[in-house]
Amino acid sequence: MDKSQRQKEENILRGRLVPPVRSLRLASEKMFRVTDGCKLEVACPDKGAADLASKLVKDFWRVEARVACAQVETLPEGEESYAIRIGATKVSVAAKTLRGVRYAFSTLRQLAESERGVATATASFILPCVVIDDAPATAFRGVHLCFFPTPETTYSEIERQIRMAAFCKFNYVVIEPWGSLRFPSHPEFSWPGHSVPPGEFGRLVRLARELGVTPIPQINVFGHAPASRSMNGKHALLDFHPEFAPLFEPDGWCWCLSNPATRAFLTDIVNDMLDIFGDPPFFHLGCDEAGDGTCALCRRADYPALLKKHLLYFNGLLKKRGARPMVWHDMFVERGDKRWAGYVACGTPGTVSILDDLPKDFVICDWRYHYCGDDLNGAEPSWATLRHFIDKGFDTLGCPWYEVANTRGYGKAIRKYGAMGMLETTWHIKRSHNFFQEFAVAAWAAWNPDSTAPDAPEATYHVSFNAYARHVNHDMGAAAYEDFGTAPFQLDVRPI
Ligand SMILES: [Zn+2]
Repeated sequence: MDKSQRQKEENILRGRLVPPVRSLRLASEKMFRVTDGCKLEVACPDKGAADLASKLVKDFWRVEARVACAQVETLPEGEESYAIRIGATKVSVAAKTLRGVRYAFSTLRQLAESERGVATATASFILPCVVIDDAPATAFRGVHLCFFPTPETTYSEIERQIRMAAFCKFNYVVIEPWGSLRFPSHPEFSWPGHSVPPGEFGRLVRLARELGVTPIPQINVFGHAPASRSMNGKHALLDFHPEFAPLFEPDGWCWCLSNPATRAFLTDIVNDMLDIFGDPPFFHLGCDEAGDGTCALCRRADYPALLKKHLLYFNGLLKKRGARPMVWHDMFVERGDKRWAGYVACGTPGTVSILDDLPKDFVICDWRYHYCGDDLNGAEPSWATLRHFIDKGFDTLGCPWYEVANTRGYGKAIRKYGAMGMLETTWHIKRSHNFFQEFAVAAWAAWNPDSTAPDAPEATYHVSFNAYARHVNHDMGAAAYEDFGTAPFQLDVRPI
């Protein structure tokens, strides 16, 4: 094979992998056939590695492979790194952990092609003989998922999102219920006829874990209290139960922090979520787009003291269950402060004042959805808020949305400034091309932000991702038109 052909083939293979790998090199022109009895070697200290490899080969290609444990002199560095060597007669995988093994097989699945030159495929796939070494750029790679009341979010859609997060090598999913969960302690805080029992959330939690993704619950304990989008005006509690009005500020948007009954109610539902999620390592407390209390009690109170006490209380509650709190960043930077021009800053002097008193248990989720310079001129941003929280000593996550330039820029900034990682958001714009942007592009930015492989002329990053959605849909047993692809309907593309 001459150099230009080799280059072309490597660009094709690199350009189909979601997220792009750190290095891929073609070792020979030959192909490995994935058929019954094919030979696989797995080097991993975890005793479950061979069984996991056998299961994945069977799940992906309906093939019984001969899987052997192997010893190698040096395993790839890092808990999530892996190495793949494909020869004509053997595939070798090496990783320190089961997660690394799982990632290696996700990459192999993406490299495999069904048997070529035949009318219909039999149980045979081929793999190119390549050498791959791969590792993530950042340790925390999460997606924030919104389970809107059914059928606005369908069962299959939320499951697809979890499966696709795993497929794209994310290692966390935050699941926010938006009134879709019938809480055991407060079933009234959900939409009659549009909610699901705790068992459905439990099923999603188990599924995520089986796929190697850690699920994180979310309850908004301050702003965003209606569990509904502000622009639609619904309220998951007050619309059917106006008698709960004293728990909220008069406009219903924030919980009333002066009322002790508020904390009791929130404690119940936070504990419900901790039970359903099986004592997770993190718990997202929301807290975005909130301001000082306005009710007859709160507006005369020492509001920063109330807010601080509220957040410290939930930190203590979570700590007893082994979880760290996560909060959106925007109330901790003051609206109108010139340092944050071009960034999201919703804080008041009071809400900002408590930042220095928060323990470093809190993980700050810095969100920004549009890529532009600090003066909105379109140049490279300085990532001022992200850097502010890192400088203050907080573990900080960068949180983009669907805009490609912003997501890619965030990925580079996260690594450059030593952030804890990325929490990709999806909100209500999460289908069709946005699904691609929120999973494939975000995975690229979180895993390997410097890669230009998907930009190569030979790359098929987007349509390959559609093929992976097909894998995921088949994995979950999709059988209806609405359950295939990345959106229920082709014309249901919401304007951005
Ligand atoms: Zn109040």
